[in-house]
Amino acid sequence: MSKAVFFSLPAHGHVNPSLSLVDELVKRGEQVIYYTSPEFKHKVEQTGAQFRDYGEKLESLNRELEGRQGNLIYLSACFLRMCQVIIPETLALLKTDRPDYIIYDSMAIWGRIIAKKMNLPAVCSITTFVMGEGQLPNPQILLSLIKDMGSIRQFNDLSKQVAAEFNITPIRLKEMFTNEADLNIVYTSTFFQPNAHQIEGNYKFIGPSIAARNERDNFDFPENKPLVYISLGTVFNNNLEFYNECFKAFENTGYQVVLSVGKQIDIDALKNIPANFIVRRHVPQLEVLQKASLFITHGGMNSVNEALFFGVPLIVIPMSVDQPIVASRVRELGAGIYLEKRKANHRNLKKFSGLILADERYKNNSKVIGDSFRKSGGHRQGVDEIFAYKNLHP
Ligand code: UDP
Repeated sequence: MSKAVFFSLPAHGHVNPSLSLVDELVKRGEQVIYYTSPEFKHKVEQTGAQFRDYGEKLESLNRELEGRQGNLIYLSACFLRMCQVIIPETLALLKTDRPDYIIYDSMAIWGRIIAKKMNLPAVCSITTFVMGEGQLPNPQILLSLIKDMGSIRQFNDLSKQVAAEFNITPIRLKEMFTNEADLNIVYTSTFFQPNAHQIEGNYKFIGPSIAARNERDNFDFPENKPLVYISLGTVFNNNLEFYNECFKAFENTGYQVVLSVGKQIDIDALKNIPANFIVRRHVPQLEVLQKASLFITHGGMNSVNEALFFGVPLIVIPMSVDQPIVASRVRELGAGIYLEKRKANHRNLKKFSGLILADERYKNNSKVIGDSFRKSGGHRQGVDEIFAYKNLHP
């Protein structure tokens, strides 16, 4: 038995895919300490891992970030500040824990730095596409994500500070996408990954991690009508205007609609919910997707992976970060339609939903990608890879 420390990014899209890997590690006798925020304590403990809180300082940084995650530079600068908060305290604690190896989320750069400082083997957990040179979005998309050129200077200054503080080379902006380790676990398939043949390094594509989440949401599933599921994920979801367009698009239609609006929306304040809508702040997405005929999504990597796993065709309306890349890949493989957010009005939503539901090819192409996921081995394969790597560093 070995001891692993997992550094997650405390967000649904980063915690969810890692849980069945952690569950499998524990089942095979590993002891896992999992760092995240209290919101995920229950889910982490269900795997048998030991939950450990990043603490109040990280929570306050997270609160500062709320609503600004779409500004790539600001987000990256926040990650550097998280390094300054997390690394000193954690290094002190880990001296007592004495882990054998580290697993870190690809955006949790502090995990990479801690592994390096402690001279421990490290595994990177990648919840989106691998973002090497061949995968980065085109300069136009990148520029739209940067938004505020002034913060580039702030990022560079912070990067220098962090480098001096921890005696490392300054982290460049593009490394925020590729925090490569000696072993990199990717939760999708080589088929879905764009330009997979160009990827160098030790990357193992194990497919998305789809396992029962034992969620507590109470949910009655509607029957007998085509189910349209709509969600903008858990971060970029404070979008009343879009939800109103959805109401207009699907009211008085033969569809049953499930709409997940996230925790920032006050559902009681929504006065105009049509009768064929079920609106919740959070739904058990894996269960809903298994009943859905169509998923209208922001293109979060996990949401898209989960839909494709169940062969559900998509309308992808990217809001930010990696979502345009995910949407482009869905379009390229014919599993759905890429709808720009400025065009996501009720007319287009209605038109493209009708188009997808009337054309079996979208669903069939989604199933082909789902099959590629199932062939990738899943969390068992992931743990096999970790064990093989670990055995190289006894
Ligand atoms: N999710 C869920 N219920 C909801 C909304 C989202 O279970 O009502 C889960 C979803 O299954 C996925 C994650 O939250 O695993 C969202 O991750 P994604 O990468 O799609 O988007 P993000 O929230 O990070 O933008």
